[in-house]
Amino acid sequence: MNLLIMGPPGAGKGTQAERLVKELSITHISTGDMFRAAIANGTEMGLKAKEYMDKGALVPDEVVIGMVKDRLQEDDCKNGFLLDGFPRTVEQAKALDEMLKDLNIKLDAVINIEVPMEKLMERLTGRRVCKGCGASFHVMFNPPKEDGKCDACGGELYQRSDDNEESVGTRLKSYMDKTQPLIDYYNGQGTLKGINGDQDINKVLEDVLAAVK
Ligand SMILES: [Zn+2]
Repeated sequence: MNLLIMGPPGAGKGTQAERLVKELSITHISTGDMFRAAIANGTEMGLKAKEYMDKGALVPDEVVIGMVKDRLQEDDCKNGFLLDGFPRTVEQAKALDEMLKDLNIKLDAVINIEVPMEKLMERLTGRRVCKGCGASFHVMFNPPKEDGKCDACGGELYQRSDDNEESVGTRLKSYMDKTQPLIDYYNGQGTLKGINGDQDINKVLEDVLAAVK
């Protein structure tokens, strides 16, 4: 089975991706990992990507697409794959469609983990980090035994500036703005499966499996 997974920051996409590939015995292709592997293996596309990354520039679409194309042809993708982190734009999605057609591969479904904005805010702004040892807590999901104090070293817990409401709000809005056209695109193709991510993580996985089977 060949799948693609999307979801905003805080939606639990990483957790679901990990469990889904195990459940379906398919290969997880996260763009970040793919980049690191292509560069480490010194593939042509990997070396091209490295050139841009060394300059601190964005890797152009044609290089990213080339890397995905190489990756999908590896043996471990024969049983299926889960693409994660790509495509990010409609242009990339169209290029992916072309490529899959060339390779004679069918994309079975696009999973979109959906969580209401206010819940994402709650999840993302609740993180607290220890000033002493860097241990990470969450006011709701992983609270310290004593308010504001690290369980491990007793150090003071603080909220990183990236985790305040304003930064998180900006991050989420930017994600939504960029992703909506992509959601519309896959919706138009009939491949999009919206999954309620605002429930127990086991239930989310169950829903994903039911949607793709
Ligand atoms: Zn600590």
